[in-house]
Amino acid sequence: MKNSINRIIHTGTISREEIVRWLRSRGEERAALLSLAGQVKREQVGNKVYLRGLVEYSNRCAKNCLYCGIRGGNSRVRRYTMSDEEVVAAARYARDAGYASLVIQGGEIASPARSREITRLLEKINEATGGSLGITLSLGEQSRQTLDAWKRAGARRYLLRVETSNPDLYARIHPANTRHDFKARVDTLRQLRDLGYQVGTGCMIGLPFQSLDDLAGDLLFFREIDVDMIGMGPYVEHDETPLYRYRGTLLPPAERLDLALKMIAIARVMMKDINIVATTAMQALDKIGREKALRAGANIVMPNITPVKYRAGYLLYRGKPCVDEEAARCKACLDARVRLAGDEVVYGEWGDSRHFAMKTRNINQT
Ligand code: SAM
Ligand code: SF4
Repeated sequence: MKNSINRIIHTGTISREEIVRWLRSRGEERAALLSLAGQVKREQVGNKVYLRGLVEYSNRCAKNCLYCGIRGGNSRVRRYTMSDEEVVAAARYARDAGYASLVIQGGEIASPARSREITRLLEKINEATGGSLGITLSLGEQSRQTLDAWKRAGARRYLLRVETSNPDLYARIHPANTRHDFKARVDTLRQLRDLGYQVGTGCMIGLPFQSLDDLAGDLLFFREIDVDMIGMGPYVEHDETPLYRYRGTLLPPAERLDLALKMIAIARVMMKDINIVATTAMQALDKIGREKALRAGANIVMPNITPVKYRAGYLLYRGKPCVDEEAARCKACLDARVRLAGDEVVYGEWGDSRHFAMKTRNINQT
């Protein structure tokens, strides 16, 4: 195992079978993988953790993904969209707290009105904060024209999880219609790259019907499309979704979390200088799940700065943490938690993907 890890670190080559073997590892082998991933992280991106204030902008969604609590078909959800003033106030909070970066996330609405709304919002945020925030969008699949307009209005990064790189599994966890099309999702990722975004993607780990081979395929897919950042985390069931009926087939939470930690560790070893998020779903399965993710190779944390009155409306899964925690309280515990993981929070820096910076530099030099 150690030999295979060392070879991969030096040559960058890895087979699907090797990844599956790592995902299965236990005891000493598992410990060796996690410690090597920690070492690669320290060498490549340092012991620094960058923050992105997360704004859960709207839970209105035209899609019906079978796993998601805010799917359009869930009539029990009280729908909301934050006002421009509320988003700008959150952006100011992020700037004053030294977060330096903002993520605007929400359900997928691909309409001309939504396109204009986000363009206007980006302009307002940049005006209010003097363009000081690095802005990431995570608003689902959009037309090239819309993505281009948002980029020109100041968005730098885009997070669009492929969810799974296996088209058959994708079809099993989404309704069978053109709105939920695997190829369209992958095409959007390529468009984002073409448009010059820092591109983030990811998958859910521990889904019903998912195999270790599927997860190995996900990591190879991330590398193939040359991602700049990864946001992946455990699948967590929600009783108001169609996938809930398969809950009896899931790995127990502790094992699901462990699988997610190994995914992070392998991702760090395979794609050394990208940004990797310690996701909230990690914390949903284990109180110190995010800290464990940092130790396994993650380097980004996204503290929730959505106004508390909206948080209960954005329950993607049950047991989501910090639903009633004000942003200021969240900030207070963040430093201590990150230090617990042996890292240090960096304030006032964007923390762009080092991988993206290196690529751009190489392109500019040629
Ligand atoms: N609507 C946009 C999209 O789907 O790309 C962005 C917001 S969506 C809520 C963000 C992510 O939440 C999805 O990419 C999905 O991976 C994750 N998610 C949804 N339901 C989940 C669940 N039950 N467990 C874990 N993650 C979930
Ligand atoms: Fe909508 Fe995103 Fe949830 Fe799918 S995962 S239902 S697109 S919010």
